[in-house]
Amino acid sequence: KAVVEKILWQRSLQMRDVQQAWQESSEGKRMLEFRSNLPAYNEKEAILSVISKNQVVIISGETGCGKTTQIPQFILESEIESIHGAACNIICTQPRRISAMSVSERVAFERGEKLGESVGYKVRLEGMKGRDTHLLFCTTGILLRRLLADRNLKGVTHVIVDEIHERGMNEDFLLIVLKELLPRRPELKLILMSATLDAELFSSYFNGAPVVNISGFTHPVRTLFLESILETTGYRLTPSNQIDDYGQERLWKMNKQAPRKRKSQIASAVEDAIRSADFKDYSLQTQESLSCWNPDCIGFSLIEYILCNICEDERPGAVLVFMTGWDDISSLKEKLQAHTVLGDPNRVLLLTCHGSMASSEQKEIFEEPEDGVRKIVLATNIAETSITIDDVVFVLDCGKAKETSYDALNNAPCLHPTWISKASAHQRRGRAGRVQPGECYHLYPRCVYDGFAEYQLPEILRTPLQSLCLQIKSLRLGSISDFLSRALQSPEILAVQNAVEYLKIIGALDVNENLTILGHYLTKLPMEPKLGKMLLLGAILNCLDPILTVVAGLSVRDPFLTPLDKKDLAEAAKSQFSGAYSDHLALVRAYEGWKVAEIDLGGYEYCWKNFLSFQSMKSIDALRREFKGMLTDIGLVDSNTTSCNTWSYDVNLIRAVICYGLYPGICSVLHNEKSFTLKTMEDGQVLLYSNSVNARETKIPYPWLVFNEKIKVNSVFLRDSTAVSDSVVLLFGGSLSKGDADNHIKMLGGYLEFFMEPTVADMHQSIRRELDDFIQS
Ligand code: ADP
Ligand code: MG
Repeated sequence: KAVVEKILWQRSLQMRDVQQAWQESSEGKRMLEFRSNLPAYNEKEAILSVISKNQVVIISGETGCGKTTQIPQFILESEIESIHGAACNIICTQPRRISAMSVSERVAFERGEKLGESVGYKVRLEGMKGRDTHLLFCTTGILLRRLLADRNLKGVTHVIVDEIHERGMNEDFLLIVLKELLPRRPELKLILMSATLDAELFSSYFNGAPVVNISGFTHPVRTLFLESILETTGYRLTPSNQIDDYGQERLWKMNKQAPRKRKSQIASAVEDAIRSADFKDYSLQTQESLSCWNPDCIGFSLIEYILCNICEDERPGAVLVFMTGWDDISSLKEKLQAHTVLGDPNRVLLLTCHGSMASSEQKEIFEEPEDGVRKIVLATNIAETSITIDDVVFVLDCGKAKETSYDALNNAPCLHPTWISKASAHQRRGRAGRVQPGECYHLYPRCVYDGFAEYQLPEILRTPLQSLCLQIKSLRLGSISDFLSRALQSPEILAVQNAVEYLKIIGALDVNENLTILGHYLTKLPMEPKLGKMLLLGAILNCLDPILTVVAGLSVRDPFLTPLDKKDLAEAAKSQFSGAYSDHLALVRAYEGWKVAEIDLGGYEYCWKNFLSFQSMKSIDALRREFKGMLTDIGLVDSNTTSCNTWSYDVNLIRAVICYGLYPGICSVLHNEKSFTLKTMEDGQVLLYSNSVNARETKIPYPWLVFNEKIKVNSVFLRDSTAVSDSVVLLFGGSLSKGDADNHIKMLGGYLEFFMEPTVADMHQSIRRELDDFIQS
């Protein structure tokens, strides 16, 4: 023990000498000067003193005040000062891998070191950490995994959980686990850091832990909503009660006044504005508009128009544009690059900022452009709180963000764009006033803003509980409902019970709520369990390609477009792909056609002719590749052979695999003279969405439809269905384990009894016959 202590002491002295030498160098002095101007620096002593007296401390302060880069450093420095430097082990978690990497690099730079010396990082599959690393930035997922193997976090002295205001799933998860750990490790310090003030909630969760607030300073920001932005075009947007051509209420009326700028430019900007104001994304009728026929992208022309105005008329200062997601950023970038002013590299430095950018791209964001060149950064909500670009003066906010789905182990993106909260809009606006008074253009009307929620719902309350429950089990955190009841905000008990029940029905959990082998595999796939199931069986039964398309297709926005004014044409276009009584198989055919056309660079035209979304096709293509890679990683697919596609032509087998995934989403088909009706056990009669290929049929030669989604409007509607036979339901619906087969037959009998007149015994016999045939074939 004495020897170890001596070594630690010597190393600590060395660390102290190195830091002193750096701080006395001219660069070190300049860096210290910069750091000491950050608001966090004023609170350094207060923060250190509260941490020394309490096990849990909550620190809040405006974005950019220096929480992430300074506070872990304060702790490290004070440990080094007190000759405990070599004994301390600080872990600071970040919600995203990109921030873990960029922040660690910045902190090492501020300390005049290389990454991997006293400061390091670790994210999934990557890291930089040395023997002398005492401050480690990592993703929350990495710390969760470490806790799995090392329940007491042996040797760790400080845990800092950053960005807790985001209320990401992993962070909420981690807090439950850490709260239980604290009594077992009384000397461990926990520091929670948050941007906006919801600190009381966290304080009361940790038995009244003290809150330190770093007061910051931001300059005033002039705020323009869509109405005011439009006035600059010479048009005026006023609320109206008119009814439009489609019988829907138009919320807005445009009053034309004398336009000041070039007409064509204004016309398309205004068109975009109406679109965002009405949120009738499909109401544009011109052909060109199909190209930006993307319900989630708001006003590209409007953005272009505003950017152009800023570049031509406004004072210097960088522009930050908040976009919905990566697809929109890349499409907008393409559009801007073709613009005479905005695409001119002598006038504009056009950059992007998103979760998967390379680190060279990251550096450019922070650099100052040359004189006379305006920096424009197209960003996702990552620039809202975790990355601060100092010279921003103008902010454009499209008002939407992609909400992240559950990603404890996979860091997989989710694909649902939603309106942001007022708190987020406030954050975005604040980005404009960092260095001088700024301006913020919200690209939506004031009344839309008024309808935003105050805060975004925590992820734990908005993501599908099924995946969450599987993750709790895979992290071996005990009973699902007990675990969730200890969360900062727990999901409803009934919702948890439903999720657990569902997981049992699909065979991911056994009767004792333990992960089955299937469940174990599902935790390795980032999509909903039902889609994961489909993918696994597609791989096992060697019909992977079509199943990859189905699963990718169900993960993106519906690629079949149905513009209101061309509904019939669009439905007719989709019906060309039908023939198998399956929307899923129609998608497979459409994708295969697209793939062939795309090779000859005709993919776009193909989409245009067939009312398909080009963007969705591209996304499906990318997702297919990603999913296949995951299956290869798990070891289910051998990428060197084509054996995974031996049976890909067999439509009935594909039907079976689809059934395996979608069960218990099943309804019976009951024919009468002219057509058929559909019934599910829970809802009674249900209807098909009008764009389903099965909705155009008068007869379906199968007794069952499996479906992906049920939507309750006035009646219950089914979206995306596939017709399947009795034997397929019997073999591929529900659990495949032997012990359950009898139960399963009984259950199927129950269904039959429920829906059909003839006796159950007869039915059983006919099923058994069919089953025998099936097995023999
Ligand atoms: P907070 O976590 O409170 O939002 P940070 O600690 O991330 O703030 O950042 C504090 C300041 O440090 C920022 O305002 C910015 O000036 C500067 N900064 C942070 N990261 C970088 C970087 N990678 N390059 C240059 N400056 C940076
Ligand atoms: Mg931060």
